[in-house]
Amino acid sequence: MSPHILILGGTTEARELAAELTRRRPEIRVTTSLAGRVSRPGALAGEVRIGGFGGAEGLAEWLREHRVDAVVDATHPFAESITANAVRAAAASGLPVVVLRRPGWQPGPGDRWHPVADLAEAAEALPALGRRVLLTTGRLGLAAFAHLSRLHFVVRSVEPPEPPMPPDVEVLLARGPFTVADETALLREHRIDVVVTKDSGGVATSAKLTAARTAGVPVVVVRRPPLPDGVSAVPDVAGVLERLGRLERLGLSPGR
Ligand code: NAP
Repeated sequence: MSPHILILGGTTEARELAAELTRRRPEIRVTTSLAGRVSRPGALAGEVRIGGFGGAEGLAEWLREHRVDAVVDATHPFAESITANAVRAAAASGLPVVVLRRPGWQPGPGDRWHPVADLAEAAEALPALGRRVLLTTGRLGLAAFAHLSRLHFVVRSVEPPEPPMPPDVEVLLARGPFTVADETALLREHRIDVVVTKDSGGVATSAKLTAARTAGVPVVVVRRPPLPDGVSAVPDVAGVLERLGRLERLGLSPGR
C-alpha cells in the first residue's frame, strides 16, 4: 500500500508542499486538510478534506482510519490549536510529525514597530499611536477593537468580517500577495497613520511593512504564539522534504 501523508494546510507553503510531493512521488497519497474558513480555497495537488476533526482525539482517529504514515503541520503561525492537536494526535498514534513555520519578520532601520502579545494589547496600544488604522489581523478577532469608537478602521481581510467590531469600519476584501506600490497607495488613499499586523512572516503580505517604513507610519506587530513544548520547526518546504526523506517508512529519498 502506498504511504499516506496528511498536510494540515491553509498556507502558501502547504500548497507548495502538496504540489512538490505529488510531483516528485506520484505514487504517494497526499491529503491536504483545510479548516473550511475560506469559501473558495483554490486548487490543491493531491486529495483535499475540509473541516475540523474534533480536537486531538478526532484527529488521531482520522489518522488511524485513513492509515496515515506522517503528518505535516503547515498551518499558519497563529493557528495555535491545530498545531497543538497535530503534535498530540501524532504522538498518541506513534506517527512522525513535521512542523513547518515560516520565519517571522525582523524590524530594520527606519521601522517604527510596537511588538505586542496579542490583539487585546494591540487595541490598548492604538489610541496613543494614531487615529486611522489599517487592520490586517484577519476577519476574526475584531471584537478586541470593538470599544475603540474614536478610531477609524480600514479592515482588510479575505472574507467579510463579522461583528462585534468597532463602529467606524471600512472593509476591503482582498487576498495577497500585495506589492509595495499597492500598499503605499493604500496608506496614502486612506490616510492611514497606524498599521496593525500579526507577525505572519513570508513575502506575500510583507509589502505593507516596507510601505509603512517609507511613510514613517508605526506598525503594531502581534507576536507569534509559542510552538508546543519540545517541537522544533523547519522554516520551509525544503526543510519538510528533508525531514520526510529521513523517514524510512515513507521510502522517500532526498533530492528527487
Ligand atoms: P486554530 O485556531 O489553530 O484551529 C481552530 C480549530 O479549527 C482546530 O481546533 C481545528 O478544529 C480546526 N482547524 C484548524 N486548521 C485546520 C486544518 N488545516 N484542517 C482541519 N481543521 C483545522 O486555527 P485558525 O487560526 O482558526 O486557522 C484555521 C485555518 O486557517 C488553518 O488552516 C490556518 O493555516 C489558516 N490560516 C490561519 C490564519 C491565522 O491568522 N490564524 C491566517 C491564514 C490562514 P478541530 O479541533 O475540530 O479539529
